[in-house]
Amino acid sequence: MSPVLSLDVPVRDGALVPYANLDYAASAPCLQAVSQAVAEALPAYSSVHRGAGYASQLTTARYEQARHTIKAFARARPDDALVFTRNTTDAMNLLARSLPEGTTAVVFDTEHHATLLPWSAPVRLTPPALPGEALRAADEALAAIEGPALLVVTAASNVTGELWPIAGLAHIAHRHGARIAVDAAQLAPHRPLNVAALDLDYVAFSGHKLYAPFGAGVLIGRRDWLERAEPYLKGGGAVVAVGEQTEWQSDVEARHEAGTPNVLGAIALAAACDHLTSTGWTSLVEEEERLLTRLRTGLAAIDGVHELALWPSDHPRVGIVSFVVDGHTAREVAERLSADHGIGVRDGKFCAHPFVRHLLGVGQGGCDEIGGAVRASIGIGSTEEHVDRLLSALGVLTARRQ
Ligand code: PLP
Repeated sequence: MSPVLSLDVPVRDGALVPYANLDYAASAPCLQAVSQAVAEALPAYSSVHRGAGYASQLTTARYEQARHTIKAFARARPDDALVFTRNTTDAMNLLARSLPEGTTAVVFDTEHHATLLPWSAPVRLTPPALPGEALRAADEALAAIEGPALLVVTAASNVTGELWPIAGLAHIAHRHGARIAVDAAQLAPHRPLNVAALDLDYVAFSGHKLYAPFGAGVLIGRRDWLERAEPYLKGGGAVVAVGEQTEWQSDVEARHEAGTPNVLGAIALAAACDHLTSTGWTSLVEEEERLLTRLRTGLAAIDGVHELALWPSDHPRVGIVSFVVDGHTAREVAERLSADHGIGVRDGKFCAHPFVRHLLGVGQGGCDEIGGAVRASIGIGSTEEHVDRLLSALGVLTARRQ
């Protein structure tokens, strides 16, 4: 049995075929273990905190256990905060609103919009031609900033899958007295995270990219900025007392989690973390790299298909590959793959417009003309058959043109 929930989908002739889901980078399919954990939690369906009833107590315990499990999964420091958010976008916005007055954010133009856009007046760095240039550019930018600074960077690109040198970037940020926030939306499902060992000040990721359902994500990191910030949402749970004056919670999690939280989302995310940890990273990474090599080698062998990459082809990456196909818009390719072969890929600019435009080497107009690129992404539950179906479908598509 596949470890993820699977699906049969209709293709052009009306037949049903097993879905070849190659769209993990958008949202990964739900793990069976996650679905089971949610089903087990559902009978005790009651709001957390403050309730004396058995269901409320049990749900509160499960919610707080989920926080603990996810912190352990990320190897956070014991005193780090973990605030449940809706997703990575929400987590980055929470952090942006919590920056001390006068903090300058430094971001690369390679970021997903979730990590590129929340900062006011950031210093933006052009895509570095090599990993070493990323270090150099960050160093120079941080050296030129007076006052507090935050370097914001993605650990694994959602466009190319390339892994960024976050340990080196953390070291540089700290040398300048700055902090580093890492978007781990695409790292967390594919590689072990170690917030403490990498000395990261903040990380954010989303449940729906980590084999759990939509609607829950996390911001993990140092408490002090979050403790002093205005509550992200104002309402029940974020306050200690309301009278003439409102007294806000000083506990970071309570302060920024006003309203009834997404308990099932948190439980699901924790169950996914447990599954990854108990399966073991060595086997997960080995299997992903085997399929990724098959996919990239296959793509390189098809005339008219071109992979997008910022850095040399042998730079380490997770299971995400973007490519263009000569003579076809990205949407045409994605539609053909779906309608004729039951394959799900993503097309467009993947919420990373500046980066995709840079990779395609074209201005805004040109990039829009071809509709960006096509992205295939893999993970737990991906098979050789999925990869081979994509390669043979692309072979048919490109052969038709010749
Ligand atoms: N960062 C990266 C690298 C992503 O790939 C994504 C989603 O595609 C996000 C952030 C935003 O995630 P979410 O939509 O869950 O907020």
